[in-house]
Amino acid sequence: MEDCLFCKFVSKEFETNIVYEDKDMIIINDINPKAPVHMLLIPKVHYKYLHEQSEKSAELLGKCLHKLASLRCELGLDEGYRLVINQGDDAGQTVPHLHVHILAGKKMDWNPA
Ligand code: 5GP
Ligand code: ZN
Repeated sequence: MEDCLFCKFVSKEFETNIVYEDKDMIIINDINPKAPVHMLLIPKVHYKYLHEQSEKSAELLGKCLHKLASLRCELGLDEGYRLVINQGDDAGQTVPHLHVHILAGKKMDWNPA
């Protein structure tokens, strides 16, 4: 999609710090980390909301999460990790390309408010 930052990372039009890539996703380090480890899992297919997913893109997201779980030691997530998907303004979504925040590297409080 035109003018989508994450699509430009996927297409390599913009350079970024890719820590993992396969045919379905890239994983990058967040530029403004909220935890000692803060990566973004970015599916290559562009859509903004979970409710916009086709059956195919839903399957791909499941596949990406399955792959992420298998990479947990390689990515330094073996002590635990938190996954967050912000959806819409109230959740603070700022990039309109669905992505999964991967947070780790410390004991985290549970305070979503
Ligand atoms: P959202 O707020 O949409 O859930 O998450 C967007 C995330 O993208 C934020 O955590 C933000 O720090 C990250 N981000 C925004 N611009 C860039 C960038 O140019 N490079 C990287 N690596 N992360 C970015
Ligand atoms: Zn996009």
